[in-house]
Amino acid sequence: MIESWGRAHRLEHQVSCLNWRDELDLPTLAGAAANGHVLPYGMGRSYGDSCLNGDGTLIQTGRLDRFLAADWTRGVVKAEAGLTLDSLMQLSVPMGWFPMIVPGTKFVSLGGAVANDIHGKNHHLSGSFGASVQALGLLRSDGTRLTLSRSENQELFSLTIGGLGLTGLIEWVELKMLPISSSELEIQTFRLDHLDAFFEHSDDSADWPYTVAWVDCFAPSRALGRGLFSRGRFAENGALMAHRNRRVTVPLEMPSIALNRYSMTAFNQLYWRLSKTGTSMRDGYDRFFFPLDTIGRWNRIYGKRGFYQHQSLLPPDDARSGLRALLEEIRQSGQGSFLAVLKNYGPEQSPGALSFAGEGCSLALDFANTGRTTLDLLERLDAIVAKFGGRLYPAKDGRMSGAFFRASYPQWVELEAARDPLFSSTFWRRVTPAH
Ligand SMILES: Cc1cc2nc3c(=O)[nH]c(=O)nc-3n(C[C@H](O)[C@H](O)[C@H](O)COP(=O)(O)OP(=O)(O)OC[C@H]3O[C@@H](n4cnc5c(N)ncnc54)[C@H](O)[C@@H]3O)c2cc1C
Repeated sequence: MIESWGRAHRLEHQVSCLNWRDELDLPTLAGAAANGHVLPYGMGRSYGDSCLNGDGTLIQTGRLDRFLAADWTRGVVKAEAGLTLDSLMQLSVPMGWFPMIVPGTKFVSLGGAVANDIHGKNHHLSGSFGASVQALGLLRSDGTRLTLSRSENQELFSLTIGGLGLTGLIEWVELKMLPISSSELEIQTFRLDHLDAFFEHSDDSADWPYTVAWVDCFAPSRALGRGLFSRGRFAENGALMAHRNRRVTVPLEMPSIALNRYSMTAFNQLYWRLSKTGTSMRDGYDRFFFPLDTIGRWNRIYGKRGFYQHQSLLPPDDARSGLRALLEEIRQSGQGSFLAVLKNYGPEQSPGALSFAGEGCSLALDFANTGRTTLDLLERLDAIVAKFGGRLYPAKDGRMSGAFFRASYPQWVELEAARDPLFSSTFWRRVTPAH
């Protein structure tokens, strides 16, 4: 039984652990599975069913984690696709280089980062992970090994970035890195009293490379969108020190009542009230970018039934009204989200054909899985996102309707045409017509 990060999906799989790039026989692996399909699996940090292949084979790439080449004068690294950002930064930070794009956890593989075309706190200026990918090595099930880049096999390059692991197995990735002079960031935090303040601070922070806001979903209607806005930039001088992985782990599932409406309302209110506005500080990159990584297996705090994440992107012109409608719907439902993250995205076009991140505003919400009540709320949120011309992030999804996916990602037809016939996922079978 393999589960994804949200733990609401647990499915039977055949699991194959890949040690060496040349040991892989994809047709045999697919043939051994009940459904005849394989799917690469990185660190399983996707929340829903896009990293699962129920009744099929998952190819675990974790041991495919070797560096293949590094040019520390130009900041270009080539590594196997199972290498994590965690391991990459251990080596690159002391050399003065940082990944151009990092998500909210460093425990993701390069292959997973490409397949979901992940984005980070600097999307408004730097776009998504695909922007930093110079080339990829792809293994198809007919045994062909292709190099994909902006100039070679261009169409497959574009469909593999954000291609949900369906075009073949990514064997290696060549990345352009960001030069840094310090491993610390200058960070400023501001209290937001309402939603408009988020837009004011975002406009005001156009030249800050990293921005993000936390929103209190339990705030009353008059204070809708209140929260905290933080922005950061790498300091110009200081030491170059890689992070240390020190963390506590949630040992067991917590009882689901621990995170109830009352405890979350009280915590959010206290957190917001105690935060001072306009504070400045300096801190290491690990705490700024990856605060949740300090608590191992934090996904257990939602109890046995797990949780769903709902991450939407609303186009720029409708972002304000769309966000207001989403937050109002959540407030009225009484099922607030403990972690609600708001972020403006910039116009940088991703090379990925099906990338989620694009210009506009994104709201990411976690909801404990209480069954039908939660699913009903999520469907109402979907309807709001659809009404405002937005879309959901497949990496976080485990339940959106096929019709909504296909309408918001019309390029799915091209991905289906380029999909390796032996590759499939539970997500893909759910949102596309039978194959
Ligand atoms: C705490 C937390 C914070 C997060 N924050 C962000 C964020 O800020 N921004 C963001 O964009 N995402 C975020 N995510 C989601 C995460 O970045 C993505 O789901 C990422 O793709 C996970 O990488 P993984 O290695 O775990 O891949 P998996 O989840 O194992 O797989 C993801 C996809 O990649 C494919 N894949 C994996 N390896 C290969 C390969 N070698 N070849 C081909 N396909 C492959 C899989 O088939 C699957 O479709 C967050 C997740 C967590 C848990």
